[in-house]
Amino acid sequence: MSSQQPYSFFQSVERSFDKAAKFTKWDKGLLEQIKACNSIYSMRFPVKMDNGEIEVIEAYRVQHSQHKTPCKGGIRFSLAVNEDEVMALASLMTYKCAIVNVPFGGAKGGIKISPRSHSAYELEKITRRYTAELVKKNFIGPGIDVPAPDYGTGEREMAWIVDTYQSLRPGDIDSAGCVTGKPITQGGVRGRKEATGLGVFFGIREVCNMPEIMTKLGMTTGVEGKRVVVQGLGNVGYHSAKFFREHGAIVVSIAEYEGAVYKEDGINEEELFQHRKATGSILNFPGATNLAKNTDALELECDILIPAALENVIDGNNAPRVKAKMIGEAANGPLTPEADEIFAERGILVVPDMYLNAGGVTVSYFEWLKNLSHVRYGRMEKRFTENMNAHILGQIEGLTGKTVSEKERDFIMHGAEEVDLVHSGLEETMINATREIMEIWLSNPEIPDMRTAAYVSAINKVAISYTELGIFP
Ligand code: GLU
Repeated sequence: MSSQQPYSFFQSVERSFDKAAKFTKWDKGLLEQIKACNSIYSMRFPVKMDNGEIEVIEAYRVQHSQHKTPCKGGIRFSLAVNEDEVMALASLMTYKCAIVNVPFGGAKGGIKISPRSHSAYELEKITRRYTAELVKKNFIGPGIDVPAPDYGTGEREMAWIVDTYQSLRPGDIDSAGCVTGKPITQGGVRGRKEATGLGVFFGIREVCNMPEIMTKLGMTTGVEGKRVVVQGLGNVGYHSAKFFREHGAIVVSIAEYEGAVYKEDGINEEELFQHRKATGSILNFPGATNLAKNTDALELECDILIPAALENVIDGNNAPRVKAKMIGEAANGPLTPEADEIFAERGILVVPDMYLNAGGVTVSYFEWLKNLSHVRYGRMEKRFTENMNAHILGQIEGLTGKTVSEKERDFIMHGAEEVDLVHSGLEETMINATREIMEIWLSNPEIPDMRTAAYVSAINKVAISYTELGIFP
């Protein structure tokens, strides 16, 4: 990360919002209401650490908007957590949900700790206490506010949260819907773990399939053969790299906080992950070259750059040196407004965070629906579909006197399982959102970039639900 930013993260979200609001017809008061963070809960609580010492933990939950309930958004564990950051991330959640038509308001939580410096037992105590604080203030619940994983958290933390919630709210039949991103055994949904990375892939693939956009960027259509750089080998970076590689792209570089590696003919993310597990670092990966600094990866010659770590990694200083033709914001807020302006001027396409990384919350929505309906996706129709397909296939084969290959038979017969339905729901969501935003952007030559078009889409949708509530004229 580079030098001091002239604006806070929340201010830069506000700036992007204001830039887009000019292209909408909404009343000033309504726009102010959409922008504001509705409820901010800042808390401090003591936790006794393994060495017997008490540490006072600083934590937050911000509910940006209740225009639709529950509010939704992850919880991050990081030393960089502060109120402003959580406010910014909560706002982005509102816009994100609106864009992908997920009927939630935005929220976010943060605990100011470094998860690496705590034992699993300490992390459990911190997470459970944080959940209890949320319950005390009515800041969590399937119809109120539903957390999820974010930077530094995952299934394990979500399991602690649902367990704590259930012990404090016995008898609540929908209690599994108080948090998403849970392990399958605790009410999670298949496909949630890879959802953000897969959504990033679906979104970029859709853009890459748009001939007029690709011609403007000087690239051929399609994902195949594209040279991709990924910053971050966490859940989002790992899965983004995986889906790009599986669809024929070449992931030439991956960066992590200890450094970056480069390999001309492509990196297999799983092998790199295993190498890191064994050696403690992504550096010295067989066949790859080490880059001096992790930020060097951002400046490599490539087609698509995917920042999938933290905010503000590309600013006015390093943006002029970025050589990618397209940037896919898998992280939340990886570019500062200065970087945005530089890329717009240089004709580099920025595919914005608040829709590109919406795969996580989209599948969280599917998980929440599963929890409220108390039934696994596909349970009712899988066998029925398979029986029907077998019957149709039998009829066709009987009438034509021909038989299909074993591989085709398996494909035709297959009844959808939970993961198939989740992936297809996500694909549909990302394709629609990409087209909707592009349509707004291309239909108004005054709109300077795709981010502004995405904000216009979000503002219009949130504004309509406020007017439907009858609060504003
Ligand atoms: N933390 C993810 C995000 O920033 C997921 C949020 C959720 O699933 O509620 O979008």
